[in-house]
Amino acid sequence: MRDRRHAEIAGGGFTGLTLAAALAQRGWSVRVHERAAEIRAFGAGIWLWENGVRVLNAIGAADEALTGCTEAPDWRSWDRHGRLIDSIAFGRPYSRVFCLPREQLLQAILNTARRAGAEIVTGSKAVAARPGGELLTADGTSHPADLVCAADGVNSMVRDSLDLVARRHSHIDGAIRLLVPHVASDYDERESIRIKEWWRGSRRVLYTPCNRDVFYICLTMPARDKEAAAVPVRKEVWRRSFPHLESIIARFGEEGRYDRFVTTHLKRWGQGRVAVLGDAAHSMSPGLGQGCGTSIVNALALANMLEEDADIPTVLRRWEARQRPLAEHTQRWSRITWPLIPWPAWCARAYYNLPVGASWIARQRRRPSEHIVYGTEDMALWMPPEGALEVTPHGQRGVT
Ligand SMILES: Cc1cc2nc3c(=O)[nH]c(=O)nc-3n(C[C@H](O)[C@H](O)[C@H](O)COP(=O)(O)OP(=O)(O)OC[C@H]3O[C@@H](n4cnc5c(N)ncnc54)[C@H](O)[C@@H]3O)c2cc1C
Repeated sequence: MRDRRHAEIAGGGFTGLTLAAALAQRGWSVRVHERAAEIRAFGAGIWLWENGVRVLNAIGAADEALTGCTEAPDWRSWDRHGRLIDSIAFGRPYSRVFCLPREQLLQAILNTARRAGAEIVTGSKAVAARPGGELLTADGTSHPADLVCAADGVNSMVRDSLDLVARRHSHIDGAIRLLVPHVASDYDERESIRIKEWWRGSRRVLYTPCNRDVFYICLTMPARDKEAAAVPVRKEVWRRSFPHLESIIARFGEEGRYDRFVTTHLKRWGQGRVAVLGDAAHSMSPGLGQGCGTSIVNALALANMLEEDADIPTVLRRWEARQRPLAEHTQRWSRITWPLIPWPAWCARAYYNLPVGASWIARQRRRPSEHIVYGTEDMALWMPPEGALEVTPHGQRGVT
């Protein structure tokens, strides 16, 4: 007999590890199964909005995750003639955006989970769950638990073992993501910390600063545009579309990763003692940069709600009823907002700058980042330790 509640979690990504940290901090014994040989994120950057920062702060991972990264002041996009399409200012209190390498974020959450006592098992592939409270792994072992969590990503095997998918939509577009090294000549104090996007036909180049060493490039294109979607990136193809970005394109390495965007809707976010979280439950296109933010918000909310009631199936139903409407709002607005691949630039410009409704649209887009995570209502905003950010929103270099 265990003397404390026990969780078995499939998936050592952002969601599984955040949940592991939060549960272990609340006295649970926790085991995470990661199918890969090590816990590692691929080489790309990630935007983390205020809601995600709040989660990191609550579990004690914010300082480690965000030290040295960039707080972006704004985002701008231009058409092929250099005309502005859209511009969004970020800032306090609820719409700060931090940009950092994925690996830095993942390692900070992993370290937090380990410090809290979570057990992390790599090379362990989860294949199914049973609603009564069992996780089955590929080696044939059954792991009994009070709570079983499927946080094994968009193609979740554990979720599919329970036949929970209602709809999966493969979008017409996808993206290649990679990290690119900075060189000294990039570094204009004010310009280099802006998030920028250039449009040409249905191709886009999104530049996101991460820190002094690297920036993150996200190349977006329709899936049918095979030459643009090829990995390693075919530099001559992208040069043809964006000749003015030659100095950046020349530095692209071999290691980019391509993903087609997928939006997932489930019949239910779990069954019995099994909860489905993160991309497994609500993958979305990256229009708002909120897939990870939404996932870790829901993980922390679940850990907090489990503190209030011992009956796990009841808590899971309440948790879904509480969190799902905002997750679906985020999926919807991610799809509406960006990248508008089939839209010509003039049309997108008109949409983004509608004289009527623009502030309503902006509020819909901000809603996920303004969300106060369940159980953190009394927590103050995270503020970087003195000198911890690479660059301040006002363009002054920080001291790391
Ligand atoms: C182009 C693009 C840009 C994005 N940009 C942003 C952004 O800027 N900000 C943001 O918030 N979100 C962004 N996202 C979304 C974000 O990447 C995801 O929402 C996030 O990674 C989900 O985390 P997760 O832990 O649920 O899933 P994953 O990150 O997929 O992690 C799942 C983990 O489970 C493991 N696993 C898989 N199957 C098994 C198994 N059977 N057994 C055991 N382990 C298993 C995997 O190896 C992996 O470690 C973006 C997505 C895309 C496609």
